[in-house]
Amino acid sequence: MSNLGTSENPLLVAIVGSGPSGFYAAEALIKSEVVAKVDIIERLPTPYGLVRSGVAPDHPKLKTAINLYKKIADDPNFNLIANVTIGKDLSIEELCESHHAVILTYGAETDRKLGIPGEDLKGSHTATEFVGWYNGHPDYRELEFDLSQDVAVIIGQGNVAADVSRILSKTVDELKHTDIAQHALDVLAESKLKEIHVIGRRGPAQAKFTPKELREFGELSDCNPIILEEDLQLNIESEKELEDKTNSTNRKVYEEFSKFSKRDMDSSKSKKCYFRFLMSPKEIIGTTAIDKLIIEKNKLSGEPFKQSARGTDETIEIDTGILFRSIGYHGIPIPGVPFHESWGTIPNEKGRVTENDGSAVNQLYTGGWIKRGPSGIIGTNRACSVETIECLLADINKLDTGKKKNGASELYAKLNSNDVRHINFDEWSKIDAKEVELGETKGKPREKYTYIEEMLSVIK
Ligand code: NAP
Repeated sequence: MSNLGTSENPLLVAIVGSGPSGFYAAEALIKSEVVAKVDIIERLPTPYGLVRSGVAPDHPKLKTAINLYKKIADDPNFNLIANVTIGKDLSIEELCESHHAVILTYGAETDRKLGIPGEDLKGSHTATEFVGWYNGHPDYRELEFDLSQDVAVIIGQGNVAADVSRILSKTVDELKHTDIAQHALDVLAESKLKEIHVIGRRGPAQAKFTPKELREFGELSDCNPIILEEDLQLNIESEKELEDKTNSTNRKVYEEFSKFSKRDMDSSKSKKCYFRFLMSPKEIIGTTAIDKLIIEKNKLSGEPFKQSARGTDETIEIDTGILFRSIGYHGIPIPGVPFHESWGTIPNEKGRVTENDGSAVNQLYTGGWIKRGPSGIIGTNRACSVETIECLLADINKLDTGKKKNGASELYAKLNSNDVRHINFDEWSKIDAKEVELGETKGKPREKYTYIEEMLSVIK
């Protein structure tokens, strides 16, 4: 009988990625009936994934999830190994050697492609780039966004598109006391944008905003939300969707759209944010940079809740020099782990990693967006990680091969011999405290370090 998971022989688990799903997996293990020691390995010197670098700076309440993550990190069986890249500094095989199980919770790092001509022209950006840039993510620090244009276009009508268009619609006064990165605030302060067009390929009954996020457009100090009343006309299938009792979110979103369409325009406001429907980008035109976007009008076809957008061949043009593609995130593979290319996820059965043919892969588990795709709010990842941990604990006898595992000490030996500067939670806390201190002088919750060298200089 295996004694794995007891104080004499703790279950050693490595988690790759310190976003919400990584922390919730750690929490579920630490609170479980077994004795487990958890090492979370993070590529950046900073933990918390999209809670730090994805959640919009003007949504501080969503970031309070960090208070729970800090409590989890206080547990003696929790350990952070940050500034370490799996696939470069350590391999999956090495983690499987040092630990009984490995959980992959590294999220979805890139964006889906539109697949249209001109997509890579200068001025055509992904939402990920813009969000990472204004949130001070080191990968996006050096990007440039030319806001000297009159018109910006955002493709997609999910909450990321809402974040991007709201940040573009806000004044500096509305943002300056948030934790937005200073370099982004400086560029936004010089913005000349007058019109922001948020374009959905389907109709107002299918937009993926949540009501709260949409409502915020009615409260902007210098921007009018605009929807044409005729754009709110629904086909019978969409009416059925909104009448459905289980579909209160879309019904409320539609009600917000209706309110916007009836509002008088406040002429003292300098910007307009248009919500436009049943349109798909067909081509981005320009020589070196974007000049305009060709859009095809769509109509819906299919049964309620299965309606898709079909092109009508009718096109319109929008003159614009800057465009943001916000059509969903896409995961990337890690060497040594099966991957489903078109879905951008790791194939799995309730969190147990499988080969693409469905056969189980020993020791590997997954959680969060890289497990189920890029959907849901922060809290959705808790149930997702709990499901994974239940599978892992059910496999505990299988995970005990009888071979002694050395856990973090084995990883540290390898990292040290390769001069990799790994960072623990106490060191991160010093960086954290310094960011808060820097923010205080500006009336901000924190001023983020945006270069890795700056972060490391705090803990030299
Ligand atoms: P999303 O909610 O899936 O929205 C993606 C949007 O892109 C949809 O409007 C979709 O239209 C559209 N789209 C997809 N492919 C397209 C194509 N080829 N051409 C044109 N449009 C296309 O994704 P997201 O906005 O990236 O958000 C990801 C998750 O994070 C969501 O669950 C979101 O709620 C969550 N999130 C939450 C918050 C918050 O709580 N404040 C903030 C940000 C993100 P279709 O509907 O037609 O597919």
